[in-house]
Amino acid sequence: MNNARKPDIVIIGAGTGGTIVANRLSKKIGKKTNITVIDPIFKHVYQPGYLFVMIGREKPENLIKDGKKLISKKVKKVQDTAVKVDTQRQVVITENSGEFHYDYLVLASGSRIVPESLDWWDDSIHHFYNGESALKLYRALESFDGGKIVIGISDLPYKCPPAPIEAAFLIEDYFRRKKMRDKVEITYASPLNRAFSIETTNTVVEPLLEKRGIKLVKFFNVDEADTKERVLYSVEGEELEYDLLILVPPHRGQQYLIESGLSDKDGWVPVDRHTLQVEGHPNIYAIGDTTNLPISKAGSAAHHEAPVIANNIVRQIKNKPPKPDFHGHVQCFFVTKWGSSMFVDFDYDRPPKPGKSRKHWWWFKRIFKPFYFKLVLKGHV
Ligand SMILES: Cc1cc2nc3c(=O)[nH]c(=O)nc-3n(C[C@H](O)[C@H](O)[C@H](O)COP(=O)(O)OP(=O)(O)OC[C@H]3O[C@@H](n4cnc5c(N)ncnc54)[C@H](O)[C@@H]3O)c2cc1C
Repeated sequence: MNNARKPDIVIIGAGTGGTIVANRLSKKIGKKTNITVIDPIFKHVYQPGYLFVMIGREKPENLIKDGKKLISKKVKKVQDTAVKVDTQRQVVITENSGEFHYDYLVLASGSRIVPESLDWWDDSIHHFYNGESALKLYRALESFDGGKIVIGISDLPYKCPPAPIEAAFLIEDYFRRKKMRDKVEITYASPLNRAFSIETTNTVVEPLLEKRGIKLVKFFNVDEADTKERVLYSVEGEELEYDLLILVPPHRGQQYLIESGLSDKDGWVPVDRHTLQVEGHPNIYAIGDTTNLPISKAGSAAHHEAPVIANNIVRQIKNKPPKPDFHGHVQCFFVTKWGSSMFVDFDYDRPPKPGKSRKHWWWFKRIFKPFYFKLVLKGHV
């Protein structure tokens, strides 16, 4: 790197991970570097709120803020889409704004949902992985006059592993409050040999599903849905009849990562699990959903990864080696009904303690949205 000029740092994506890294770097070395964030929309969405849109307790527009205003003024914002990374020339190529040179690059472009990749998927299948679909699902629940609701997972991995179970709990709660619980049969179809992937948390989740009358079907890996006959089939040869089907759609990393040779075939980027450097590229980091790390695709993972990446870039600029400081820390307020949550906190070596669902964790969940926009994204906590 030429020491006569300021180093160029480019961040692709202004979601949870990209925004925190940009703000942390700006505070630490904003004046000594050129920091650029590229994002096609700069509309920052608080995605956990989609679950509340789904039950009519939140409006999608209340979850969105202007992404440019959430990022330090010292950072250059380019509203465009990254279409390729040329690692030989160290440039990011965009759709309309030309090329951006980097000395250090952060891949923070999250994940995308690709229901269209399944030829049997159609509009009758519901999900809550964007504002529009969550609202459409709410309308369907509102007009549902009884019958079988099946909640399942079309493919792994997906964002926020507890989300479909939280959806089952919230929907059960919704119909109980509506005084028509007896008319609705709710089934949660898990691809695993248990309801929730982490054993310690599962010891709390499964009895709660039973207590709430939510039927659990294990080892149900979705094969396809016959949306005319309203039957969901599993690769294990089982079938579930439904009146309303809710499926987590398949997720992939972004296409430009596949085309740039930085990811596997599904778009997930291999990184060192402690330094977060992209394998084979010591000056490129990946954060959040983009990585292939064996932890939840969750905002809280990105939150804990961001300071490690920011520190390591500063260290590399000072000719020091990156530190292996990320240990897989993830936290989650796991909702079990409107008014109660569990707190799940774990890392690579430490499974979560099987804590009970409590009112006070619910209140943390409820106040987290303003806390997220004011403190987390700014890099204050
Ligand atoms: C229903 C639901 C509930 C959730 N609940 C929780 C929860 O309770 N707790 C939790 O921690 N997490 C939760 N999450 C997950 C969390 O929202 C994501 O894991 C988190 O936002 C990931 O951060 P990220 O920075 O990797 O990606 P994102 O925040 O998704 O940001 C990616 C950014 O990249 C941009 N981008 C995409 N492609 C390009 C491109 N080619 N060029 C430039 N920019 C691009 C996008 O516009 C976007 O701004 C939930 C998600 C959902 C859907």
